[in-house]
Amino acid sequence: MPKIPIARPLLDEAELNAVAEPLADGWVVQGPRVRAFEDRFAAFVGAPHAIAVSSCTTALHLALVALGIGPGDEVVVPALTWVATANVVEMCGARPVFCDVNSATWNVDVDAVEGCITPRTRALIVVHLFGRPADMTALMALADAHGLPVVEDAACGFGARWAGRHVGLFGVSGCFSFHPRKAITTGEGGMLTTTDGALADRYRSLRDHGASRPRDGGGPFLLPTFDEVGYNYRLTDIQAAIGVAQMGKADTILAGRRRFAARYDERLAGLTWLLRPADLPSDAVHGQQSYVCRYAPPGELDVDALHARRNALMAALEGEGIQTRQGTHAVTLLDVYVRKYALDPRSFPGAWAGDRLSMALPLYPQMTEAEHDRVVDALTRLGP
Ligand SMILES: *Cc1c(COP(=O)(O)O)cnc(C)c1O
Repeated sequence: MPKIPIARPLLDEAELNAVAEPLADGWVVQGPRVRAFEDRFAAFVGAPHAIAVSSCTTALHLALVALGIGPGDEVVVPALTWVATANVVEMCGARPVFCDVNSATWNVDVDAVEGCITPRTRALIVVHLFGRPADMTALMALADAHGLPVVEDAACGFGARWAGRHVGLFGVSGCFSFHPRKAITTGEGGMLTTTDGALADRYRSLRDHGASRPRDGGGPFLLPTFDEVGYNYRLTDIQAAIGVAQMGKADTILAGRRRFAARYDERLAGLTWLLRPADLPSDAVHGQQSYVCRYAPPGELDVDALHARRNALMAALEGEGIQTRQGTHAVTLLDVYVRKYALDPRSFPGAWAGDRLSMALPLYPQMTEAEHDRVVDALTRLGP
């Protein structure tokens, strides 16, 4: 039986032909393809400004740098997210304050955020985990009430909308990822979105060593001036060429993901031990970066016992060539953070459950119905 991977990027002749261009003309970094990718992306999500960078991690870092986050500051971060969301706070010398997540949505528990805010809090990072939009109405109201800026970790958020608006456009900035596990990919890559033109200019400078335009209107032979210390977080034109090709099929990619997610919803509805992703309000749209369920046989409540049984199920699926994965990790379970902040992982029960009991199922737009049927059949047979 051929293997069914957890994810597979949709790459074909379009990307192959696209990368030939920068290789042929020799403009391989921060050139016309980067500009074109930014324009296509901005138009797709409805952002006035989109700034390409080397990854979502570097996008998040620049968003915090632009807010002036530094030593002594605190930033509220969901406890269940990819480690990068917390690492960028550390990169600024600030402290991530972890907030538990809601175990039905895997997104930050809105009611718990308030308790994480202290006089040292400088920002909130909101994550749209697995492509599910967070409740931006409630979160923006809360942030506004405290006068705190929101940075959106929309690494998984491509195609996700809340109240009709694409995620990444509610806070001061949205940060997107083009890692191969995300909906569209450039290998590695990221994008910042903002509605603020001055902030967009600052991002363009910060990604390019802090370079600004020559102030004296000098010729192209003069190097730019440098007003602040910046970074080299540029995207290459080779990556951006792939990005432009991916944007050309963005609707197809998202439609395929939605089709197979809906098919799981329908065909797994009879499995009482598997909690499928919760419904969204009718004016919200899931990006379907990942289809993440919760292993939850009725009656059994002990997380450690359930964790062992979930792992046995995932091993059995792997044995049949079907890849599943833990949804993501709880940062509050990772040694580096547990040690540094003396955390008790069990005091974040939502994140604890997300780490120990979540199960992502194979999902990619070019999946076949036969592959999808095999996953459904194996779950039905092997489940408790
Ligand atoms: C993938 C991911 C990141 C990191 O994105 P990179 O582009 O790999 O740096 C950050 N946050 C979340 C929630 C992610 O899923």
